[in-house]
Amino acid sequence: MMHELAFDYDLFVIGGGSGGVRAARIAAGEHGAKVALAEEDRMGGTCVIRGCVPKKLMVFASSYRGAMADAQSYGWQVQAGGFDWTVFRGKLDTELDRLEAAYRGGLKAAGVTVYNERATLADAHTVVLASGAQITAKHILIATGGRPSVPEAAAKAGVMTSNDIFKLDALPKSVLIVGGGFIACEFACILAGLGVEVTQFYRGEQILRGFDNEARTLVADQMRAHGIRLLTGTDVAQLQAIEGGMSVRATSGEERIYERVVYATGRVPNTDGLGLAELGVKLGPKGEVKVDGWSQTAVPSIYAVGDVTDRINLTPVAIREGHAFADTVFGATPRMADHDLVASVVFTQPELGTVGQTEEEARTRGPVEVYSTSFRPMQSAFAGRPEKVMMKLVVDSDSRKVLGCHIVAPNAGEMIQMAAIAVKMGATKEDFDRTVAVHPTMSEELVTMRKPVRKT
Ligand code: NDP
Repeated sequence: MMHELAFDYDLFVIGGGSGGVRAARIAAGEHGAKVALAEEDRMGGTCVIRGCVPKKLMVFASSYRGAMADAQSYGWQVQAGGFDWTVFRGKLDTELDRLEAAYRGGLKAAGVTVYNERATLADAHTVVLASGAQITAKHILIATGGRPSVPEAAAKAGVMTSNDIFKLDALPKSVLIVGGGFIACEFACILAGLGVEVTQFYRGEQILRGFDNEARTLVADQMRAHGIRLLTGTDVAQLQAIEGGMSVRATSGEERIYERVVYATGRVPNTDGLGLAELGVKLGPKGEVKVDGWSQTAVPSIYAVGDVTDRINLTPVAIREGHAFADTVFGATPRMADHDLVASVVFTQPELGTVGQTEEEARTRGPVEVYSTSFRPMQSAFAGRPEKVMMKLVVDSDSRKVLGCHIVAPNAGEMIQMAAIAVKMGATKEDFDRTVAVHPTMSEELVTMRKPVRKT
C-alpha cells in the first residue's frame, strides 16, 4: 500500500494483547502498512501473561490429583505425593517467557516497530509515549484490554486478584474466593485440585449467572462434590488483614480466618488516563470504548478492539475483531467481526461448554423443545467416582433448529467447539439425529436423545 508521508505511521496500536498484536501483524505483514505498537507491560496481554494460558496450565496441573486417584482405581500402583508449586511455577515462568518471545518475534517478522512503554493520545492522529516522544499515525487502534475490578474496601484490605495467583511464592493452605463468574469458579476448582481448602462466596442465588440454569446447577453440585465450600447468597460483610491471613465476616454472620482472599468480581476496561474522552471518543458506563460494527469510535481515525470495548470479552473474539479491522482499513476486504453464536467454556472441573441460547432465554422467544440427559460417565463410574455429566440441546419447535447446546463434562471445551460448527451452520435436531453416534463416548448422547424432556 501507499504510505501517507504526512504521518509517521499508517497505524499505531496501543496494547500488545491478542487483539492489538493480531491487528498489527495483519496490517503490516499482509497489507504492507507501516505499523508501530506500544505495550507498557509484557507482550501478549491478559490471555498469554495472566489469563487463559497460565490458567489452563494450572487446570492441567490440578487435574492430576483426580487422575492419580482414578489410576489407582484402575489397578495402577501409584502413590500420589504432594504438589510442588515451586516446580510448577518455574516451568510456568519459562513457558510464558517463551510465548512472550514468540509474540515479539511475530511482530518483528511482520515489520512492526515496538515501543516498550505506555502510550496515550494527544489528538486524533498523535500518541505521546511515556518517554515524551510524539508520534503521528493515520489510524490509531486502542487495544488496551481490561483489568480486575475490586470493591474499594476489599482493595484497601489487600485482597488478591487473579493477576496475583500466578505470582504466589507458595500455595496457601486456605483461600476464600469472592464472586461467581468465570474466574471465581475456575480458580475455585484449580486451587481445590491443588490441595488448597477453598471457600467460595457468591452473592446471588446460583453461580455463573447468564449460563443455562440446568448446566450451572450441575457445575455447582460437582464443585461441592469436589470439596469446595461453595456458599451462595453470601457476601463479605467485613474484611481485616491479620497476621498470616485475613479475618472475614460473611453476610451470614459466619467469621473465619483465611490465609488468602481472592476477589474475582468482574473486570473493567483499561481506558483511564488515555485521553480518549477529551478527544471526543465516546465511553460507556464502565469506561468501555463505544464502537460500531467496524470497531470504529466516534472519532473516525480511532478504532478499538477486544476487552476495552466490552463486547464479548474472549481472546478469540478480540483476535477476530483485530483481524477484521486490519482487513477493512488496510486490505481490500472490508468485513465486520461476527459476534453471533460465539461458543465459550468455563474451565471448571467438570468444564461447562456452551453455544447459543440457554433454555431460559429461548423460552422467552418462542416455543422450544429441550433435550437433556445427565449421567455418570464410564471412565469415572468405573473408578467409583460419583461424577455426573450433562448434554443438552435447546431446539426451536417450529424451525427445528438447534438454538443452544450446553455440555457439562470433562473436556466439554473440546466437544463444544465441534458442536458450535453445527449450530453455527443452522443444524436442525434432525441433522443431529441422522449423525451416527461415535461409541463409546460421552458426546454420543448429543445425537441419540430421542424424546424431549420439556416442551413449551
Ligand atoms: P464475571 O463478570 O464473569 O463475574 C463477576 C462475578 O463477580 C459475578 O459473579 C458477580 O456477581 C460478582 N460480583 C461483581 N461485583 C461484585 C461485588 N461488588 N461483590 C461481590 N460480588 C461481585 O467476571 P470475571 O471476573 O469472572 O471474568 C471477566 C470476564 O473475563 C468474563 O466475563 C469472560 O468474558 C472473561 N473470561 C473468560 C474465561 C473463559 O473463556 N474461560 C475465563 C476467565 C475470564 P453477579 O452475578 O451477581 O453480578
